[in-house]
Amino acid sequence: MSKLNLNKTWNYAAATESTNHILLKEKYDLFINGEFVKSNSKKYFDTINPATDEVIAKISEANKKDIDLAVKSAKIAFRRWSKLKAKERGKYIFRIARMIQERAKEFAVIESMDGGKPIRESRDVDIPLAANHFFYYAGWADKLEYAFPNKTPKPLGVAGQIITWNFPLLMAVWKIAPAIACGNTVVLKPAETTSLTALKLAEIIQESGLPKGVVNIVTGAGNTGAEIVNHPDIDKIAFTGSTNVGKLIQKSISGTKKKSTLELGGKGANIIFEDAAIDQAVEGIVNAIFFNQGHVCCAGSRLFVQESVANIVIEKLKDRMSSLIVGNPLDKNTDIGAINSKEQLATINKYIKIGQEEGGEIYQSKCSISKKGNWCPPTLFLNVSQSHTIVQEEIFGPVLAIQTFRTIDEVIEKANNTPFGLSAGVWTEKGSKIFKLTQELNAGVVWANTYNKFDPTSPFGGFKESGFGREGGLHGLKAYLKFE
Ligand code: NDP
Repeated sequence: MSKLNLNKTWNYAAATESTNHILLKEKYDLFINGEFVKSNSKKYFDTINPATDEVIAKISEANKKDIDLAVKSAKIAFRRWSKLKAKERGKYIFRIARMIQERAKEFAVIESMDGGKPIRESRDVDIPLAANHFFYYAGWADKLEYAFPNKTPKPLGVAGQIITWNFPLLMAVWKIAPAIACGNTVVLKPAETTSLTALKLAEIIQESGLPKGVVNIVTGAGNTGAEIVNHPDIDKIAFTGSTNVGKLIQKSISGTKKKSTLELGGKGANIIFEDAAIDQAVEGIVNAIFFNQGHVCCAGSRLFVQESVANIVIEKLKDRMSSLIVGNPLDKNTDIGAINSKEQLATINKYIKIGQEEGGEIYQSKCSISKKGNWCPPTLFLNVSQSHTIVQEEIFGPVLAIQTFRTIDEVIEKANNTPFGLSAGVWTEKGSKIFKLTQELNAGVVWANTYNKFDPTSPFGGFKESGFGREGGLHGLKAYLKFE
């Protein structure tokens, strides 16, 4: 095998993105009825840069009274927004999309500072995709009857939307854009550790002139989310987060009229056949598990390699891992940034320990890691089987569990042997194998000869414990409509 020729005496010069142009307030209040207002709780919590442990800003904690105010404002706004000419609704949404594009650099830097992801990813993936989602759904706003012919689509009312921290702006946009394009109004709660870009989006929404109360953004922890879920005037819950909290939400709303979509956890299988283009597949493995530090619901965290090529794939993968740069998220050379929070780092380390205790053979690439901040080197485990905890449970970090297989039926059986059903990848030059796998894998998304590709036009969502409902594409509109 020809190894990567890494000259150890040669280092990349730092190419750090400037933060001079970033305007952050010391304190962020709640965005209710088109205004930034103080919370009734009068409490604030810190939002921390996970790469430096520095407090970046203080974020308001919304309580029951605040949620009530936000839902009331959304309910009142619904009366006019749902009746507004669809073409006019579309214009506001187009305007928001363009304003995100204009401020893309600012958003990218804040996303990396608040969440720890490499600037290359926030700049090239998160922010452009967020703008594209607004553009895409702006286009549908006045064409709903063409999207669903022979039906009369009507909005649902007030949507309560709760999201996680791994793609903070993008998850907010996945939820807000289709909801308001269909004529609904929303109350959205971002994750506690990454509220900043949602609040910056609130600034844009205010500036765009969107009618007051159409979008309300309330910050806080799990309790704040639960207040949204349990509010009697919420018509729909759209949740992205863990399977455990998803189950709690489903229990809370059972017996009510509330509609729901749940986008939950995953344990994606990435499958490499012996006829695959091996170098491309190795890049695909790296992208599948190390993109966004592995904080990706659809991450390819279980790798299945056909036995005949296992040795070469693993050797090339280790070699490639040694070239990955772990460090300052704002440096454009960085491949793997900071782990989002101390809690998430503790969870990842717990699973790494379990992996070793259960007999897994660990490999971590060598990298110098700063004393400040939360870091985890890219990690893989060999010598594991279906029953290992790290093969069954979602880790949500840069940790890959590798197994081998001999036949196509064996790998389908193994890949489907998980409580989740969100994503999978298949690497082969044979179209027939791709079609067999896409039909037989129990996963909402199956990528062929690529991984972690997202587009506003294609639906995303899971089966089994990965939840139900889809975001993106026409399916994403349907989740915010009723048909009369
Ligand atoms: P959590 O379920 O802990 O949190 C998600 C959101 O729910 C946060 O805003 C959280 O607030 C809030 N929350 C917590 N408890 C409650 C409650 N009882 N009632 C209402 N809201 C509550 O998930 P994580 O933040 O840990 O996110 C990681 C998970 O998200 C992973 O399992 C991942 O796979 C999944 N995910 C799924 C995606 C999909 O599309 N299928 C996409 C991205 C992630 P707080 O922030 O304060 O905890």
